[in-house]
Amino acid sequence: MPASRVPGPSVAFDHVSKRYAGGVIAIDAISVAIAGGSFIALVGASGSGKSTLLKMVNRLIEPSAGAIRIGDADVTAGDAHLLRRRIGYVFQNVGLFPHLNVAENIAIGLRLTGREDRAGRVAELLDLVDLPRAFADRMPDALSGGQRQRVGVARALALEPGLMLMDEPFGALDPVTRDQLGSAIRALHDRLGLTTIMVTHDMAEALILADRVLVMAGGRIVADAPPAALLAGAGGAEADALVAVPREQARRLREIGGAA
Ligand code: ADP
Ligand code: MG
Repeated sequence: MPASRVPGPSVAFDHVSKRYAGGVIAIDAISVAIAGGSFIALVGASGSGKSTLLKMVNRLIEPSAGAIRIGDADVTAGDAHLLRRRIGYVFQNVGLFPHLNVAENIAIGLRLTGREDRAGRVAELLDLVDLPRAFADRMPDALSGGQRQRVGVARALALEPGLMLMDEPFGALDPVTRDQLGSAIRALHDRLGLTTIMVTHDMAEALILADRVLVMAGGRIVADAPPAALLAGAGGAEADALVAVPREQARRLREIGGAA
């Protein structure tokens, strides 16, 4: 398929806040600039504001204050539906339509934009996510969780977005499938030159896949560093606590291996 050679766009948050009805301040004046083509992991405890921050990029949630730019354009400059066509979005449990087969699920965006040769494009997309083309006719309930998630990624890539937003995309998967899909998504990111923002609560996954890790707590970014710097302790107390978990696990595994 013609890989998009143009690097993905930058994303900038400028003093962005979100206060939900009821008064919860989910995002507290976040300013952060994400370079085009980078793979960002957004890590933090449940309730720290990760999903809220992500969904403000494709306007599933509107900020209470501040501005978000993709490239040079403010996300509010145009119609939200048109914005979403340029942004891939993958979330936990994919949200495939159960009454549509794989090809129809992948082609939803293609239908909306009136693209011709949808079958050809669906075949390309199945290739891209390493699913057999014969899966086009299958119904979602005849797929494994990992295969469904690959269909979700294919659907998100259908309109050749430069920016991918992923909200705990591997949340419901077993560890082996999760690891495979993580590697596959990083490879797609590199091959297509995407900008990717991936929410995960798994620090090990973030450290392994991302170029840069943003740690969130209480609606703020409390650490912002590349994986190697976080591992070296440059992230501060909150980040250290999260990094300590996989590090301690690795230490125990080495100990067991050494004792065997
Ligand atoms: P995360 O994805 O890190 O778990 P969220 O962004 O979903 O966090 O939530 C951040 C905070 O905002 C939490 O305190 C959550 O309870 C609150 N929140 C999320 N969505 C809503 C909503 N629609 N209405 C009110 N509060 C919300
Ligand atoms: Mg969330």
